Amino acid sequence: MSFARETKEELAHIIPQKSCCQRAELGAYIKMLGDLGISSKKLKLSLKTPLSFLARKILILLKNNGFKTKTLVQDHGRLSQKNFYYIELEERVEELLKEYGFIDEKGNLSNRINENYIKNDCCRRSFLRGVFLAGGSLNDPAGDYHLELNLPDEAFARQVLKVLQKYHFTFRFLKRKSVPFLYLKDAEQILSFLSLIGAHQSLLKFENVRVVKEVRNQVNRLVNCETANIKKAVKTAVKQIKDIEYIAEKIGLDNLDPALKEIAILRLDNPDLSLKEIGSLLNPPLTKSGVNHRFRKLELIAEKIRNGALG
Ligand SMILES: [Zn+2]
Repeated sequence: MSFARETKEELAHIIPQKSCCQRAELGAYIKMLGDLGISSKKLKLSLKTPLSFLARKILILLKNNGFKTKTLVQDHGRLSQKNFYYIELEERVEELLKEYGFIDEKGNLSNRINENYIKNDCCRRSFLRGVFLAGGSLNDPAGDYHLELNLPDEAFARQVLKVLQKYHFTFRFLKRKSVPFLYLKDAEQILSFLSLIGAHQSLLKFENVRVVKEVRNQVNRLVNCETANIKKAVKTAVKQIKDIEYIAEKIGLDNLDPALKEIAILRLDNPDLSLKEIGSLLNPPLTKSGVNHRFRKLELIAEKIRNGALG
């Protein structure tokens, strides 16, 4: 099961305790999944979803609010993974839509939910849960972090965005083929959003995957860094040995300052040692930068010989 589906299934089992919150969540479903039609000269509202658990939840919310419903299942046959569930209302549809503000005083359709339904914090959370269940998607945290809310029209998308901003979320607003959507890429904010809408199981799972992923990334970074350091040290030692052998061939190591000769021989005998380790073999011991300084002198001598200035 996908992470998004798992999250939605968890959320579908939450039935808000307070009726104000139930109505707020129902409002999200009516707006996001609803389709208006006429049946026997009466207004008919049909809510459509491919998620059986969501259909069940909507039925409970409608029943709790005293609405009679009819459910249909559209079976697409064995080849299709997707069945669609239709929940149909034929009574009090106009009344319901007017209450929610989806039909205004003049009888025109409106895209925004009546603000009274989302003025309380408890109701806003339920409303956002509904928006996510009806139009949300969420990537598995093992991949890129991405949470998205697909919305039916721009006016409603802006209204949802305003609600989200009350909780300081920084959702981005975009359109895909003129369909508006809001999205988050930030793991912390995705976790906060899951917490706000009550997806606590999914939140824990998301957090676990994220921690494992980040530790693994950190280990990889350290290993890469270590490898880079080793490569650099090997390259340096190879260059030092080349210079020393060149000096030995051209002028002989005996003609070097005794301090330089000592370090040159140590290097030839120990190609794998770090500067610090070479320093510790000297008597008296020398710091890494002291050793580096001597190798720098050897390098300059080799350079001078190559340029014909010595030897
Ligand atoms: Zn409430």
